[in-house]
Amino acid sequence: MIKEHNTTGLRYLCVTSKDDHNSYKGSGKYWTTHIKKHGYDVTTTVIFESPQQHIFDAKSFEISKEYDVVNSQQWANLCHETGFKKSVLGLRHTEESKVKMSRSSKRLSGWKHTEESKILMAKAAKSQTHLPMTEAARKKLSQSNKGKPRSKAQHDATLKAHRVTLVCPYCGHIGNYLPTMYRWHFEKCRNK
Ligand SMILES: [Zn+2]
Repeated sequence: MIKEHNTTGLRYLCVTSKDDHNSYKGSGKYWTTHIKKHGYDVTTTVIFESPQQHIFDAKSFEISKEYDVVNSQQWANLCHETGFKKSVLGLRHTEESKVKMSRSSKRLSGWKHTEESKILMAKAAKSQTHLPMTEAARKKLSQSNKGKPRSKAQHDATLKAHRVTLVCPYCGHIGNYLPTMYRWHFEKCRNK
């Protein structure tokens, strides 16, 4: 759904599993800062619904990219919306998914890396940030963080937020580290 601030016109793309869409106010850092400052005077528009999580997640990401919510100053999103990634935070692996995961990691390690992917992997290993962030997103974040040094706790929280269980809708691969999953699966999946 899209939330739009009635006074400032700032928009925020977000998801909820609640039936009452208005009771969920959104959780992004830039958005919540904005709400604190200007009050919660917001119109909520539901743009997509699906009971199937993988379809919903894929669609969320598609819409997020379509509106270019990270780069656009009209949107408060700092990262692309990828559906319910946060709702599975802390999910315990069932025996079945453990088997699946070990199977898929075996399959992955059996892959031969091409020259191109070796370069990509080396680059990824060197990079300090886990998710690609554009200049605009960086600027937004630094604005909302003004005067607040990034503490170790915040850093740990970011790492923790990236440790979620995600299933690639294209190949069925289950991974538990968000940046890696988005680097190799979803829109970049070789089975797409
Ligand atoms: Zn995949």
